Order: sequence, then C-alpha cells, then structure tokens
Amino acid sequence: MNTITSQPSVQQSRGVERLIAGQATSDGAGVKLTRVLTQNLQQRLDPFLMLDAFGSDNPDDYIAGFPDHPHRGFETVTYMIAGRMRHRDSAGHEGLLQNGGVQWMTAGKGVIHSEIPQQEEGVMEGFQLWLNLHSSEKMRAPWYRDFQDTDLPKARTAQGVAVTVIAGESHGVQGAVTRDITQPLYLDIHLPAGARFEQPIPAGHNAFVYVYRGEVTVAGQRVPTQRMAILANSAQADGVVIEAGADAKVLLIAGRPLREPIVQYGPFVMNTKEEIYQALGDFRDGHLGERA
Ligand code: FE
Repeated sequence: MNTITSQPSVQQSRGVERLIAGQATSDGAGVKLTRVLTQNLQQRLDPFLMLDAFGSDNPDDYIAGFPDHPHRGFETVTYMIAGRMRHRDSAGHEGLLQNGGVQWMTAGKGVIHSEIPQQEEGVMEGFQLWLNLHSSEKMRAPWYRDFQDTDLPKARTAQGVAVTVIAGESHGVQGAVTRDITQPLYLDIHLPAGARFEQPIPAGHNAFVYVYRGEVTVAGQRVPTQRMAILANSAQADGVVIEAGADAKVLLIAGRPLREPIVQYGPFVMNTKEEIYQALGDFRDGHLGERA
C-alpha cells in the first residue's frame, strides 16, 4: 500500500449529468443481477458497453452461474468483491476468481468460456464491465489475466482514501492494466467519513461513478447508493471531486471514446451487421474459440 501525500489537484470538477438506477435482470443460467450500464447508454459511455452489478446472499440468485458461452469483439473485466467463481475458457485458461480479485479477458476474435460459482452458500458480490475494442483489435488473439487482491496496485491518500487501481493511473500508482487506445481508468475507491477524493480525467473521456456502499457528493449533487452518475463532459472540467459524508465505496470508470459504429448481438460486439453474421456463423461451425 503506497501512502501518497501529494494530492492531485482538480481545479474544476465535472458535474453529474444524469443518475441511473439500472435494471434488474438475469443472465447466464439465471443469475440475478442489476444491469447498471444498459445498451441504450453505449454511445454516451463509449468505450464502455455494459456494467453489471451482482450481489446476493441467496444461492438461488447465483448458483447456476454462466455455463459455456462465446464472446467476440471486446474485453470483459470481472471484479469480485466477495465469493468465489471458477472460469475456464476455450484457449485453455482456467482460474479461480475470489475476494477482491479481477479477471481481465480480451475476447478478441473469440473465446468460449464458463463462469461457475464455487460456493453453495454465503455472499456473492461483484461487477462485470465490458470494454469495447477498436475495429483494428476486434479480431486480435484472445488474452486474459487473473489478478488476486494482493496483486492489484493500491494507493492511499493523505485523507485515508483507499484506492484499488484496476486500470489507468491514480495518485502516482499505475494500474494493473493499461490500454493504449481506450485508456481505461477503473478505480475502486473506499472513502472514510468526511473524505474528499480528486481524480484528474481528460476532458474528452467519458466517465461515470457507481456507488455501491453509502452515498457520495459530486460537484454538490448527491449520488445515492446503487446509483450510477454519468459525469458531464465539459471542456472546463479537468477531473472529478468525490466527497463522502459517511463511509462510502464507489467505482470510478472512465475511458477514451472509440467513436465507431457499435453493433451488438448478445455476446458479440462488432462494427457492422455482416461481422455479426460472421461471428454467428463461426460460432455455429465451431470456429469461434478454437485454438490457434
Ligand atoms: Fe462471459
């Protein structure tokens, strides 16, 4: 844990453009979850395609998991706050994702994988974020990495704010993953009561905050628990300032937009319909996810 004394200074915080409650849904073999970033926000929050929040202490809500299913054209980032999930994929990778761990998977031209809970009781809580790939990278070779909680870079500010830097950079700490084109920032920020947290964000990047414990204030606007705040893109704002009256935990996610057409069909996200037909055909013929 690095203790940082020099605060980055944000001269003007972005404001809150809109609060989003998300939609209760189920996916996989019947896992109950809240889709926080839904398909209608994909253009606005480009390069992010989806954010799901799952959290339950009822095994019926999660036990079926996500049996074998394909992906093509983007990256999935699974962050497990509590619980254990085993994943296996067609590239021969296998890993156990647990308390505080992250799995970063670049599906590229295609993987088939499963994500199955390894517990029959207790709390399962976490998030899955989908990050788009530039057209030039959608058919790249798949890649993946598991990070245990202890592998993830962490920062602690002078005000006692604890930050897990999953991607990007915060308070001088480089995140676990960097991407040249989309330049994702993915922070899990734990604010003690009365703390203030500043994070520079380039003006052109799209950004949002998701509060999963307590509530925070962004530029004077209250963001309650289980709400996503889309942060306004204003040319004058050089970052975001998040304040917590009481203990709070939030995700701060930002990235550089791709500004390309987005065509999604379930687990395939490409630029054209023809590429979607190709993905469906490759999957049907057993070519998606076959080892190179
Ligand atoms: Fe998946």
